[in-house]
Amino acid sequence: MNEKPGFFRRIIEIALLASVYFATAQLGQVFAIPPGNVTPVWVPSGLIIAALLLRGYWLWPGIFLGAFFGNVCAYFDFENMSNIAESAFSGSMNGMGDALCALAAVWLIKRFTLRVKQPTQVRQLTYLTLFGSIMAGTISAVFGVSGLMLSDFIAANDYWSVFITWWVGDSAGVLLFTPLLLRWRAWQSWQWFKLLTLIELLFFTALLLLTIMFSLGLLPTGLDLRFPPAVVLPILLLSVFRYPYHITLAFVLLTATLLLLTTVEGLGTFANQDQNTALLQIQMFLFPLVLTILFLLANREDRLATSRALEESREYNRTLFEELPLGLALCDMSGRLIDVNQEYADILGRSIKDTLQLTYWQITPEKYAAKEDEQLQSLTETGRYGPYDKEYLHKDGLFVPVRLTGRLITINGQQYIWSSVEDITVEKETQRNLELARKQAIEANRAKTVFLSSISHELRTPLNAILGFTQYLESISENPDARQKKALGEIRNGGEHLLHLINELLDLTQIEAGKLIVNPQPTPLKPVIADCYNFIEHSATANNLELIFEQKIDYWVNTDALRLKQILLNFLSNAVKYNSERGRVELACTQKNNLLRISVYDTGPGIDQNTMASIVKPFERAGAEKSAIQGTGIGLALCKQLASLLNIEIGVNSEPGSGSEFWLDLELIGEPTEASPPKATTVEPAG
Ligand code: ADP
Repeated sequence: MNEKPGFFRRIIEIALLASVYFATAQLGQVFAIPPGNVTPVWVPSGLIIAALLLRGYWLWPGIFLGAFFGNVCAYFDFENMSNIAESAFSGSMNGMGDALCALAAVWLIKRFTLRVKQPTQVRQLTYLTLFGSIMAGTISAVFGVSGLMLSDFIAANDYWSVFITWWVGDSAGVLLFTPLLLRWRAWQSWQWFKLLTLIELLFFTALLLLTIMFSLGLLPTGLDLRFPPAVVLPILLLSVFRYPYHITLAFVLLTATLLLLTTVEGLGTFANQDQNTALLQIQMFLFPLVLTILFLLANREDRLATSRALEESREYNRTLFEELPLGLALCDMSGRLIDVNQEYADILGRSIKDTLQLTYWQITPEKYAAKEDEQLQSLTETGRYGPYDKEYLHKDGLFVPVRLTGRLITINGQQYIWSSVEDITVEKETQRNLELARKQAIEANRAKTVFLSSISHELRTPLNAILGFTQYLESISENPDARQKKALGEIRNGGEHLLHLINELLDLTQIEAGKLIVNPQPTPLKPVIADCYNFIEHSATANNLELIFEQKIDYWVNTDALRLKQILLNFLSNAVKYNSERGRVELACTQKNNLLRISVYDTGPGIDQNTMASIVKPFERAGAEKSAIQGTGIGLALCKQLASLLNIEIGVNSEPGSGSEFWLDLELIGEPTEASPPKATTVEPAG
């Protein structure tokens, strides 16, 4: 339905509908038959259903007004002006009846038609016949004829005969006119008419008219030739198959009108003394005829729509097939290529026509024979194959890497293989380059490790000699003066620092080379932590730092004590190095289920979020290199590697200005003696 137009437009359309209704009703009166002055084919009933269907329910006042004035005009006695009240009453009844039945019919037609997903023409026509013609005709006849009887225009005795004519007239009006009016747009397109078709149409019309006239015995042939009226049926059938919907409808209308008019005029097979009987008979003939033609037309339209939809979907699929940037191929079970798209042909460097001369085996290198068998096996077992990477033979003799997937399909009872083929040349190249880059990186890293490891060994030997001789000099020099003492101290300090650096470097390179072996075993934590305390105590005191160590440390863990100590000492020596004046270093333990977290807290400058990730990288000092604090930037990198070797987690929580917490998590075990079961001691967090 169209959108509801503006108020004035609606008023105009309502007035127009009322006028057309009135005019067609007046025209109908010419053929009205007594006693009720009812017309055998009531054009307005077809008009109003079409109007509401095309424009909307809001047109109903037009129906009321048209029917009202039409009725008043037919029954009002203009000479005596005596029956104003009766004709007004009868007019209102008629108007109400018509408006009501049109509204109800259109509502029902729409409701039932829209309920299905794809309303077909046959379905629409069925509802139009049921609701628009049969039901609406009945409502209108009940209202109209009752109005006539109540206002004494007809006698009660004549009620049924007038009712039948009324009903027949209304129903016929809908069947003959509504489908034609609903097709009003078709009349606006004249493309269909060409000179030849116009001539053909003229011949056809002449044939139809002649047949009707023969059937009525109207042709002055001198012979008493009279065909049964049913001979028009094959001619109308011809129109159904030859001409568009609306043209055939026009022929049906022409036939019906001619037969009706001549019958009313007392001509033809159906002529009868009693006009009502004559009309009933002709209607009985026309109803099935018109319905047959209408349903055949609707059926043809539906078929056309279906084949159009099929054609469109075929076109759509074909476009997809041709335009897809993926090779598609259909081949029969012997491997003959039946259909391929451009992309497929491009992969082979050939034209489509060329490709279709080939079999699958001609483009498959021999080395893939075994793999092909596997895929064929999968195809017969599961109906599918792939994804499967192989190569195709290019026209130039090159191998093109491709990835195939496919499935079995059946067309006209024959089995075919439907494959999609992706050219993976670029992917393979990228893979090759990546692999090469990876190998180069591994090789470079290995070379670096070998270099570092050997240079560290080479450095350690002379360094040990320097340190040994420094100690020797310190021990043999009696009463060295302050300058000598300082010089020897400097040599020892520098040497020790260098040794520490070399040792850490060696550890790191050994881990990277996979040579450092850890030896986890049940270990009591207490001695490890006590060692750490002893080791760090001196430097903490020297730096004026308060040192707090957790006391409840009777835990057992499965670890390598030496390496665990190495990590903790790194944390502790960092906590001492990166601390504040008169600050604090604290080692605390927190137990959660069977996990023990050992945390080393300090009151130093803390670390900001951005640098946290970098401090575990070798030689990264996060700005500390600019300070006076000695360091190599290897400690935490080594801790990370050691932790991963020991399979423990380490981490840091810190904020600039509020110190740092470096932690590691250890899994607790019970003390490994039969006498004492695992201790589930609760350790309070260090305060
Ligand atoms: P180094 O201490 O020899 O420089 P590390 O690998 O042990 O090397 O530490 C890397 C960097 O992390 C240090 O240079 C320092 O900037 C930062 N850092 C480590 N521990 C702390 C800490 N407790 N507080 C503040 N910064 C720290």
